[in-house]
Amino acid sequence: MQYVSTRGRAPGVDFAGTIVTGLAPDGGLYMPESWPDLAGTGALDRGLDYAGRAVRLLTPFIGSSLPEGAVERAARQVQARFHHPEVAPLVEIEEGLFLLELFHGPTAAFKDLAMQLVASLATEALKATGERLLLLTATSGDTGAAAVNAFAGADRVELVVLHPLGRVSPVQRLQMTTTGASNVLNLAVRGDFDDCQRLVKGLLADPRLANGRRVSSVNSINWARLAGQIPYYAAAASALGRLATWVVPTGNFGDAFAGWAARRGGLDPGSLVAATNRNDALVRALDTGVYARAAARPTASVSMDVQAPSNFERLVFEAWGRDGERTRDLFEAFARDGEVVLPADLLSALRREISAVAVSEAETAAEIARTHAATGRVVCPHTAVALHAARQIDRRARPVVALSTAHPAKFPEAVAAALGFSPPLPPQLAGLEDRPERFEPVDAALDAVLAAIL
Ligand SMILES: *Cc1c(COP(=O)(O)O)cnc(C)c1O
Repeated sequence: MQYVSTRGRAPGVDFAGTIVTGLAPDGGLYMPESWPDLAGTGALDRGLDYAGRAVRLLTPFIGSSLPEGAVERAARQVQARFHHPEVAPLVEIEEGLFLLELFHGPTAAFKDLAMQLVASLATEALKATGERLLLLTATSGDTGAAAVNAFAGADRVELVVLHPLGRVSPVQRLQMTTTGASNVLNLAVRGDFDDCQRLVKGLLADPRLANGRRVSSVNSINWARLAGQIPYYAAAASALGRLATWVVPTGNFGDAFAGWAARRGGLDPGSLVAATNRNDALVRALDTGVYARAAARPTASVSMDVQAPSNFERLVFEAWGRDGERTRDLFEAFARDGEVVLPADLLSALRREISAVAVSEAETAAEIARTHAATGRVVCPHTAVALHAARQIDRRARPVVALSTAHPAKFPEAVAAALGFSPPLPPQLAGLEDRPERFEPVDAALDAVLAAIL
């Protein structure tokens, strides 16, 4: 399987190439050159465990680009590191309303599912080629924690994580800074998340950094991360055994795009709803046809405070019949002007693929309280955004599945504000504050960050 860029001007690469390259050299995102028939792999069979299902689904995407057995070893390792035998259990909380629990991994957020897999696959790919890889990532909390946990101690990989100093939650910071791993560097940038993202982009383009290594990023633009999110849609579709409506709490649109890919591969042709917080550029784009960047506003669902979801470009590419030229023109105009009008043919095609709703801060808090009162369950603010959207959908004909993306104990302030108490820590988050921390504060300037890394 080869991968092409959404902007149509980059040479094709194989699966291993998408991991070590990240962003395509023409500025686009990698996509499989054609969509495999995922339902035809038998991945919906009942009786498969999570790893077995993941192997069937990922094999067509990987082809022969990794050593024999690599995907099996990676999938088994992911399963072994989860704290639930089903890995991603599906739970019916009210009649026809389900939560897909994705937070049983080592850092208690759904990003573990793909990140742990990518870490194993990257290590296998590098062993085969003899290369070394420097990975950079900007984080507002969850991505960094998942990446540090997954790559700590990995052979042939060095990981640099940039987080905004004083702006991630204490649990999130401790998850990144207490592993003691010598191949991980945590930089606390005196600035905000947008500064961190800007610095990562600058570093990726800086020739002084590479020094004989491959340099890439593990943000959700990386194709392998999206591929690693398809198996839980298949696990839930298999458990349900009938069409569903899937509601995905959305920031950078990576998780929702994985759901789209699952549907494209025939796993569940039901419908897909992206639920955002008040950072609602995607919702406004589908409502009005104007895709416009606005300053990100802080919310309780911090991991979804994204102003322009990177993976939206993948959906546009598909909705436009994979026209790289038109996709490139649109996103170059968006980068330049901060606003584009979506042509009518594109808008109607997008509306056939997905719908989107925005959920306010008051609705999110009320949903946490309502779910607790009705079911005794404590949900995190991201999950509450999806649940609130899910309740607006008629579930008599089809069940509705809301993705539950983090353990509530990662966001104690938001939960306490809604319920008056903080949820207890799950075992994988306990004891963090007793471990020694290591991070380096740096100024939000390219030269300062480069010097700290070198
Ligand atoms: C990252 C994250 C999201 C959003 O996922 P995207 O793929 O960026 O849309 C939702 N919930 C939690 C808890 C997250 O960490």
